[in-house]
Amino acid sequence: MNDPSDTRNGSGSGASMLAAIGNTPMVELRNLDTGPCRLFAKLEQFNPGGSIKDRIALGMVEAAERDGRLEPGGTIVEATSGNTGIGLALVAALKGYRMILIIPDKMSQEKIQQCRALGAEVIVTRTDVPPGHPLQYQTMAADIEARTPGALYIRQHYNPDNPAVHEATTGPEIRQQMDEDIDAIVGGIGTAGTMTGLGRYFRRVAPGVKMILADPVGSLLAPYVQTGELTEPGAWVVEGIGEDELPPVGDMSLIDEAIIVNDRDSLLTARDLLKAEGIMGGSSTGTIIAAALQWCRRQTEARRVVAIVPDGGDKYLSKMYDDHWMADQGFVERKTYGDLRDLIARRHDEHEDVTVPPDATLAIALGKMRLFNISQLPVLEDDRIIGLIDETDLLQRVLANAGKRNAFGEPVSAAMTTRLETLPPEASLADVRAAFDKGFVALIRDGNRYWGLVTRTDLLNWLRRNRPAA
Ligand code: PMP
Repeated sequence: MNDPSDTRNGSGSGASMLAAIGNTPMVELRNLDTGPCRLFAKLEQFNPGGSIKDRIALGMVEAAERDGRLEPGGTIVEATSGNTGIGLALVAALKGYRMILIIPDKMSQEKIQQCRALGAEVIVTRTDVPPGHPLQYQTMAADIEARTPGALYIRQHYNPDNPAVHEATTGPEIRQQMDEDIDAIVGGIGTAGTMTGLGRYFRRVAPGVKMILADPVGSLLAPYVQTGELTEPGAWVVEGIGEDELPPVGDMSLIDEAIIVNDRDSLLTARDLLKAEGIMGGSSTGTIIAAALQWCRRQTEARRVVAIVPDGGDKYLSKMYDDHWMADQGFVERKTYGDLRDLIARRHDEHEDVTVPPDATLAIALGKMRLFNISQLPVLEDDRIIGLIDETDLLQRVLANAGKRNAFGEPVSAAMTTRLETLPPEASLADVRAAFDKGFVALIRDGNRYWGLVTRTDLLNWLRRNRPAA
């Protein structure tokens, strides 16, 4: 590790960004209740691609270089919907390989953009086709590998270099950072690379270390550890961990204990972790910390425990770190009224300002419409609704002033409609539909009091939350 010719080492000059992979910080949780134990977090979001997967990306590529499966100028292919794609795109960019990623179409636009920005060719394919179908993402990756000279399909789920990297780097780092005094490690399993590699390392150097699996409700992994039986998998929101089949490259016999965490507890724990400790992890971090806290509080003796934080929270800002998303998904409670006010995603009484004042400029109004992805804005003066401005009003006014220097500088009051169609909170869903059919959103007003607007998306989310039990 301290070979000065190794440019990955990071000391001195000449180190590339690849040198920043690994050697991530370890911090102790100081504020959350850890019972009699001390709980430490290994912060893998400090890797340059933002996740623990940078380690395996580098390790799998360098192993393939060593044994000649990958040659200079070659092409790396992987089928992935997650962090491994970003890690591989980073390594390929720095080492000069062509990178082709096949990604199912449920993946977030941000991740696709990050991979493309790193220079990867991203092929988006269908999520809803069975294994073996020519458009299924793993089938496509194998096909591209077969058709492309010099191509290597990485296959992280089957690749023994995936756990090997954690055995060689993550394990020794943890042991050293814990001063060789460690009782348990808590982590999640996707490919099982992390937990298998760490399990193998600690079985070898410190066999007393307990390996604890944190698993989302619906995954078949924790039930398998607990009973040895394969159960029917369900669905879960947490990303990157939990599986609906046993991981081919994993060794589940290394797991001593499994703790199941539901989505709500996972997401709320991730949010608590940020507030209490300043650690902004992803959704799997929530599952892992929730399980670690449970395990710690259950102990009767002081133990030293390490929890893995696999990635950071920036990819989840518009999901679990967004209060509206949490409410839409039903993960946090909010005040309910039993009428149309419950459908409003951004309620005016909750200090959400999806409105404009009459003296705001048309540029400000357009910016707000874009920001909140809506086509019309209520105009409020002293908390009273006095008008409405929609895209048509904006466009007409701007076109009418097209010759002038600052057509967008006019006030909203010059373009708004004052003839308002609003609905009282007790109106029916049919009234809401009628507003939509006319091309409007539904504005909810109770006398002079403005409550907020209901969009098509709000209605869809409400219908899904309140669907009758099947
Ligand atoms: N958390 C996140 C966010 C991940 O992307 C992954 C990898 N799928 C994991 C945890 C689990 O890691 P592993 O594949 O090593 O089991």
